[in-house]
Amino acid sequence: MKLKNCKECGRMFQANLASQKLCQRCGESEDNKFLKVREYIYDNPRCSVVDVSNTLEIEEELILKWLREGRLTLKGEGSGYPCERCESIIQTGRFCASCANKMSSALQASAEALKNDQDVSTKQSQAGMWTAK
Ligand SMILES: [Zn+2]
Ligand SMILES: [Zn+2]
Repeated sequence: MKLKNCKECGRMFQANLASQKLCQRCGESEDNKFLKVREYIYDNPRCSVVDVSNTLEIEEELILKWLREGRLTLKGEGSGYPCERCESIIQTGRFCASCANKMSSALQASAEALKNDQDVSTKQSQAGMWTAK
């Protein structure tokens, strides 16, 4: 058991799990909302985020958050939300498949570039040490 500050309301609470970020009250209400949304999408696979939000009176932002985290998936055509990068309509996660692909290769490229940069700067500092002698 560990004392933590709730990310939602800031109150101190006893966390049973290291991953727990919300107090009992906030955590429960968010879980309850999640279950409702999941059930609604299950019953109405062609619904849109706006439908869910209006029917259940749950903030669109929260539903989008779950979709982006991949906890929810929309099924209906045209019922998605925009990819964060190119605005094409997606139904789960943060990016469409093509952006996800492009980004993972871009990420690899920038990781390589970073590595090369570090190599250069360590060489330079070593070179500096030598000349300073
Ligand atoms: Zn709380
Ligand atoms: Zn995209």
